[in-house]
Amino acid sequence: MKLFIAIAVATAPSLFGVNVIFRNAPTNNANSLIRGEVGAYMARRDGGKLHTGIDIVANKSSMDKNTYAVYAVKSGRVAYARLNGTESTDYGYTIVIDHGDSLYSQYSHLAVKASKDLVKIGDEVAAGQIIAYLADPAKGELSSGNVRKDVVKNYDKIQLHFETFMAKPGVTSTGVLSTIKKDCRYLDPTPDLVALGYASF
Ligand SMILES: [Zn+2]
Repeated sequence: MKLFIAIAVATAPSLFGVNVIFRNAPTNNANSLIRGEVGAYMARRDGGKLHTGIDIVANKSSMDKNTYAVYAVKSGRVAYARLNGTESTDYGYTIVIDHGDSLYSQYSHLAVKASKDLVKIGDEVAAGQIIAYLADPAKGELSSGNVRKDVVKNYDKIQLHFETFMAKPGVTSTGVLSTIKKDCRYLDPTPDLVALGYASF
């Protein structure tokens, strides 16, 4: 009976029809909140554009950059690791991981200096491995890309833009992100984040 219960718990997500995409948190989940409304998956932004990922925001400040660590949600190979736009436009410093089976994850608004030497295209990464930082407060470094610097200056609203999507497998890019995301199908990461203990605001 005990064995049966253990198996039932281990396979519970599929029994209830919820498709688990990943089992590792992309940030320190004790220090993170899912940003609702404009930060939600498929939220409609100004001009009618859809928000294809989810925003995860640090909810308390720390001078320790490990508070702002970004982790691979699943093992895979780095498909993209560069500035998307500039340090103050678009996604900023972005990493995409190819997890195989056409599944990719994307991490954006990363702190450039603190992140750029951690992983490069082609690197194998393990689930839960630190691949980037959202900020390095001791060095005065913040998130990159189109995020409000006035909001994040106290290091308590540092924001990760996180996406999961299906696309042609094995594609990398040293240029635009759309090379990888051509005809991609976005997946909702919200249920997995909630299962990992993320609360929303
Ligand atoms: Zn976002």
